Amino acid sequence: MSALPVLHERGQREVFCGLTGIMWLHRKIQDAFFLIVGSRTCAHLMQSAAGVMIFAEPRFATAIIEDRDLAGLADSNEELDRVVSDLVARRPEIKTLFLVGSCPSEVIKLDLGRAAARLSQRLNAVRVLAYSGSGIETTFTEGEDACLEALVPEMPTLATKTRPSLLVVGALPDVVEDQFARMFSALGIEDVGFLPARSVDALPPVGPDTRYLLAQPFLGRTAHALEERGARHLPATFPFGVEGTTSWLRAAADAFGVRSGRFDEVVGPPAKRATRAIAHYAELLEGKRVFFFPDSQLEIPIARFLTREMGVQLIEVGAPYIHRDHMARELALLPRDVTLSEGQDVERQLDRCRAAAPDIAVCGLGLANPLEVEGITTKWSIELVFTPLHGYEQAGDLAELFARPLNRRSRLEV
Ligand code: SF4
Repeated sequence: MSALPVLHERGQREVFCGLTGIMWLHRKIQDAFFLIVGSRTCAHLMQSAAGVMIFAEPRFATAIIEDRDLAGLADSNEELDRVVSDLVARRPEIKTLFLVGSCPSEVIKLDLGRAAARLSQRLNAVRVLAYSGSGIETTFTEGEDACLEALVPEMPTLATKTRPSLLVVGALPDVVEDQFARMFSALGIEDVGFLPARSVDALPPVGPDTRYLLAQPFLGRTAHALEERGARHLPATFPFGVEGTTSWLRAAADAFGVRSGRFDEVVGPPAKRATRAIAHYAELLEGKRVFFFPDSQLEIPIARFLTREMGVQLIEVGAPYIHRDHMARELALLPRDVTLSEGQDVERQLDRCRAAAPDIAVCGLGLANPLEVEGITTKWSIELVFTPLHGYEQAGDLAELFARPLNRRSRLEV
C-alpha cells in the first residue's frame, strides 16, 4: 500500500448512482434485459442518460413502484410478476433478466433476490437475477460491480486442468476485447475468457485454475466472489496508457510463463505506436495542473497515466472509495506531493478546487457547468467510462480526451 496520506471525506456527494452502469452493460451483454424496479426519478435518470443513444428498442426499462406502504407489499410483488410476465411475452429474445433495485423505500421493502428466484422458476426459459443500483448503496460504476457479482454464481465450473486459464474481468467495448484477445493469443495464452461475456449463455468457466486480471478498478465485490470460487488475482496496474497496458499484459505473461523475448516481440510494435500517438498531446498537456473530483472510480489509474506519460501536474485525485489491494500498484506510481482524497464533502472540495485554480477539473456532469461558469475548464468523468480508452490502440484517444477541453478553451479565448 502506498505511504501516501489519504484525506477521508464523509460529506455530501455529487455522484451518479449505480443505475447508470446499465447504459454500457445493456450494450455489452446482448441477450440480457435490465428492468429497474424504481421510481419516476429513476426512469427520468435513465431516459436523460440514454436519450441520445436510443435508436432501437432498448434492453432496459423501469417498473415504477411507488406510494406503497407495508400492507401493499403483496400487491407490489404481484405487480412486479405481472410486469415481468408481460415483458417476457412481448420480448421472447430475452434470455436473462436483471431486476435492478433502487433507493425508494417502496423498493427497499421488496426482496428482489427472492423475486428473482420465484420468477426464474416460474418463467423457466428465462434466467432472472437481481442486483442493486441504488444510490444509497452504490456510486456510478459500482452498479457494474454489483451486476458482475450477480453473474459469478452463474459461471460454469472450470474442469481441473493441467494449465490455468485467464479471465479478464470488467466490461470492455467489443473492439477492445477483441484487441486484447488477439494479443493474448499472440503471446500464446489461448484459454482466455471475459466477464461479462457478450451473452450470459456463454459465460466463461471459473475455478481454482482461473487467474484473473481486472480491467476495471471498481470491481471489489466481483473479485471477492471470484476468489470464493477459487480464482486467483493477478495484481497489476490497470491497462490505461502505454505503461499501464504493458504492466497489465506482463502480469498475465509472467503468470503463464511467456518468454520475455516473445513478450517484447508481441507488445513492442503496438506499444511503440501508442507512444507515438500520445507524444503529440504531451506537448499540450505537459505541466498542466489537473484536479480530479471523485466520480467514476477511474480517477487513480487515469491520474497515474496523465502524470507519468503526459507530464501533468496532479493537484488532487479524489476517488469515491479506494480498494487498497487493487490500487496498490497504481498508488505506488503517484507522485508523493499529490492530495489523495476518498469519499466526498463536495463544498469543501469545491473550495480546494477554486483555490488551486487548475487547468482542468475532472468531474461529474452536475459540477461541470458551475465550474465552467467560474472559468475552470472541465472534463466530464462520464466520458472516461463511455469512451473506449483501454489498451495501446486507445492510448491516443485517452490523451486527446484531456487535450480537447484545453483546445476548446483556448479557441474560446481567442
Ligand atoms: S436509484 Fe436512487 S439515486 Fe438512482 S435515480 Fe433512482 S432514486 Fe435516484
